[in-house]
Formats: sequence, structure tokens, C-alpha cells
Amino acid sequence: MSVFEHRSFDAHEHVAFCHDKKSGLKAIIAIHNSHLGNALGGCRMFDYRCDDEAINDVLRLSRGMTYKSAAANLPLGGGKSVILGNPRHYKTEELLRAMGRFIDSLGGRYVAAEDSGINEADMRIMGQETAHVAGFSAQAGERGDPSPATAYGVFIGLKIAVEQRYKTTDLKGMRVAVQGVGNVGYRLAEMLAREGAELWVSDLYKENAERAAKELGAHVVDPDQIFSLPVEVIAPCALGSTVDDIVLSQLQAGVIAGSANNQLAHDDLGAALKARDVLYTPDYVINSGGIIDVYYQRQGLPYARAHKHITQTITETLQEIFQRSASTGEATNVIADKVARRRFDPDFSSVDCVA
Ligand code: NAD
Repeated sequence: MSVFEHRSFDAHEHVAFCHDKKSGLKAIIAIHNSHLGNALGGCRMFDYRCDDEAINDVLRLSRGMTYKSAAANLPLGGGKSVILGNPRHYKTEELLRAMGRFIDSLGGRYVAAEDSGINEADMRIMGQETAHVAGFSAQAGERGDPSPATAYGVFIGLKIAVEQRYKTTDLKGMRVAVQGVGNVGYRLAEMLAREGAELWVSDLYKENAERAAKELGAHVVDPDQIFSLPVEVIAPCALGSTVDDIVLSQLQAGVIAGSANNQLAHDDLGAALKARDVLYTPDYVINSGGIIDVYYQRQGLPYARAHKHITQTITETLQEIFQRSASTGEATNVIADKVARRRFDPDFSSVDCVA
């Protein structure tokens, strides 16, 4: 199996395959680009069907982090790590410590944060072997979990998108459907409810959706109905790839703005959404509040600083993307990639024409 010829290889700087015989750890760490700074990105533990699936995931996700941090105006590169195996069966203290040592061996070029299958307690264990871990509270009173910052950023971005598409900043009476009311989606729903939006929610966990109904007055719908509702805004806050060709044919909303990573099942959907007058808010721009918060936490700076950065960066970057999309006719996801790339790739700036 070749990495250099892999379909998801994109001039990644460093790909490390990590094996610890004693704990059984098998992991891959990928640093995509470190032009803007050391790479920061989640450590995921997942039961991949084969090695190729894991390689594909780590190559794709680390590249995505380069774009996300650049779009967020952070001095960070893009990286990600994956641990192969079902976290429920194979996660042990010994394995997490071994992972911490591999992260440490990169000397800070890659800093790991939480991701699916890896929680705060796991990060603390890795943190006993390396200082290059972030996004969790090492001591009582520290803020840790970046979900509130992510939700705040999505809220700001959603309002910018509504203003662009519906020419109003008033969410009172605006119909919003939130797919997935977990850590981010529920907090987003709370902020929307506070501004008077009418909410529809779906979640695979019935109790999550019922909590939103009870606490926020949201209407609960089945997961397969959420995208076809007659609403103004859809906020995908569950898993990736939920916006596909079938969803496209059902959509009634004029705005898509949510926290999920990799929302579009394939890139061409960006143009297809634009052709249908649906304003797609690029995922890695609108959900960058979390990484901004993690960056400020690592600097030991208060949330107020992160809050200011989130507000300013998400507002300005989305406004630029929406304006350029309107004037050039290009899809918002394509413009977002250009805006991010202009920030991390010095060779690209000269060929990217600003509209
Ligand atoms: P979470 O696991 O707390 O919440 C996700 C919720 O979505 C869960 O309640 C789950 O039951 C539900 N869900 C899953 N599939 C669904 C489906 N098909 N229909 C309806 N509900 C479904 O996760 P989270 O931390 O809230 O993150 C949500 C999304 O945002 C993820 O894609 C994540 O990668 C992304 N994201 C999160 C952060 C963060 O700071 N937490 C930052 C950036 C991006």
C-alpha cells in the first residue's frame, strides 16, 4: 500500500505509523501542512474496517485541519491522528500512554485534542506522557470542552448567512431545523430559542430530542424528515456527509449552517446548492469556534479573547466568502478553499484572483 500515491495524499509533510507491541496500539499521525505553525488536530479512535480506511481518514482529516485553522486566522498547521480499534473494547490506559509517547516523539510538531472515541479523561492519560495535548481541563476550574465555543461560532455564522440570504438579522419567528442536538446542536438550539426562532429537532437518541422539546419548546421530528421540512434554515450538527443528492432534491430551506464536519457528501454539491439558491455556509469556517478556543486555552488566555476572535473571524471570513460567491457565481465551498489556501500556501496567493 502506497501513501504517496494514495487518493487522499495531498503533499502531506509527515505521516507516522505507530505500533506498540505491549499495549497493542496501532495508530497513524498525519501532519498535512505546518506553514502557519505546529499542527493541531483531534485524535480519533475508531474501529476501521481496514488499514486503508484509517489512512484515508487521517490524510483527509489532517488536510481539513490545515484549511480550518487557516480560515480561522490561527497560527496553526493541520494535523490529525487515528487509533485503530473499537474504543469500547481496546482502549486501555497502557494504550493511551503509548499514544502519548508517540505524540511526544514528534516534539510538538503535532498537538492532539479530543475527537470521536477519545474523551477528556483519555486526553488526561495521554497528557501524563506528553505536554503536546490540548482541549481538556487539566485542573478543576479550567474550561476544557470547546463545544460551547463551537456552538457560539455556529450561531454567529448562521446569523451572517441569514442576513445574506433573507436580508434580516432578526431570528424571531425564523424556522430552523437542527439535526443532532448533542454537545453543539443543543447549545445552538438554546441560543436560537433565546432569539425567538421556531425550532424543529431530530436526534438518534430520543432523550436528546425530547430534552429540546421540553426545555426549548422544539418540535421533534424523525431523523429522516429533518431535511425536507418547510423551514428557512437547516443546521446539520450530527455527523458528516448528511447533505447528499437525495437531500438536495428534498430541501426547502434557503440556508444550511451547522457544526458538522464534511457536511457535503461530495464537493459538487456546493455548486448544485447554489444553483438551487441555497446558501451553504462552509462547514470548516462556521465550526471553527472550537479550535479557536483550544488555541487560546493552550496560550493560557481567557475565554473573552477567544470569543472576540471567533466573532470577528467567522463574521469577516463568511462575509468575504458570500460576497465573492455572489459576484463570481462560484460555490461557497470552492471560495472557502481559496480563501483558506491563500492564507497557508504562499505560492497560491499570486494565482488566486480576489473578486
Ligand atoms: P455529539 O456526539 O455530542 O452530538 C451529535 C448528536 O447527533 C448526537 O446526539 C447523535 O445522537 C446525533 N446524531 C447522529 N446521527 C444523527 C442523525 N443521522 N440524525 C439525527 N441525529 C443524529 O457531537 P458534537 O460534539 O455535538 O458534534 C456535532 C458535530 O459537530 C460533529 O460532526 C462534530 O464533528 C462537529 N464538530 C464539533 C465540534 C465540537 O467542539 N464539539 C467542533 C467542530 C465540529
